Amino acid sequence: MQDIQLIINRIHDAMVPRLGEGKVADYIPELAKIDPKQFGIAVTTVEGETFVAGDALVPFSIQSISKVFMLTLALGKAGETVWNRVGREPSGSAFNSIVQLERESGIPRNPFVNAGAIVVSDIVMAGHQPREAIGELLRFVQYVADDDSIIIDNAVAKSENATGYRNYALANFMRSFGNLHHPVEHVLGVYFHQCALAMTCSQLSRAGLFLANQGRNPLSGHTVVSARRAKRINALMLTCGHYDGSGDFAYHVGLPGKSGVGGGILAIAPGKASIAVWSPGLNKVGNSALGSAALEMLANETGWSVFGA
Ligand code: GLN
Repeated sequence: MQDIQLIINRIHDAMVPRLGEGKVADYIPELAKIDPKQFGIAVTTVEGETFVAGDALVPFSIQSISKVFMLTLALGKAGETVWNRVGREPSGSAFNSIVQLERESGIPRNPFVNAGAIVVSDIVMAGHQPREAIGELLRFVQYVADDDSIIIDNAVAKSENATGYRNYALANFMRSFGNLHHPVEHVLGVYFHQCALAMTCSQLSRAGLFLANQGRNPLSGHTVVSARRAKRINALMLTCGHYDGSGDFAYHVGLPGKSGVGGGILAIAPGKASIAVWSPGLNKVGNSALGSAALEMLANETGWSVFGA
């Protein structure tokens, strides 16, 4: 049995001298205010134990990590028909890129780039008012994390809505191709609120646990998705979860992962554990600089990479 606490303490100690590396996302004004010198890590094993180090109990904006939870809901609702409206290939471009969309007639490359996630939110909205779709996501995240105290930070959602010109461009573009079924303002209202979910590393690592355990949350005993679906969501996280840095993340870490511009990363070690790291400074492709380094250390020390030790 590995001593996870010892390993993450060591990782934390290695990150402390590097605090502040990278650049905090400032295109969302509320995120620009965050103190960059923070680092947290939480590991929840499939046996149900959670280990934490650093700022693991500080809530942060999960941003694009929410795309994993929204995709899980959309697949539950629409099944494989999701793939008629969004692809499953790595994009090889920035998370908010618009060029690919034009070439590919408004069908986004995958559900984890912004355009793809906006379509996924539109799918979850079917038959709902925007407020209900947001409520459904919040309840789902509370359910998988087994924690009713998780909230959406409305100030972050508002701040992004006020400056989200690029996302408006993407959404309008897809609406013109008929790939959004609801008004652009409604879909983006849902999308900005899902991105504004505030969670701690500890809550996030528990929320991802079903993906590490064949779709079943070992803490509650509830089956969240089938084993096959969990496998497939992990496959998408591995190939598309870090935008244009997905190849590099697979090379250095070797785990399915999803990053967000708030500086968080959720990584899944199938059959072993769910891991959440957070540090606000981002690298050039928009993924947490220290978070990526910490996960590389963790994968090396545990031998959890899906490609072997
Ligand atoms: N809400 C952010 C955006 O749409 C999410 C991006 C991200 O976390 N990579 O720009």
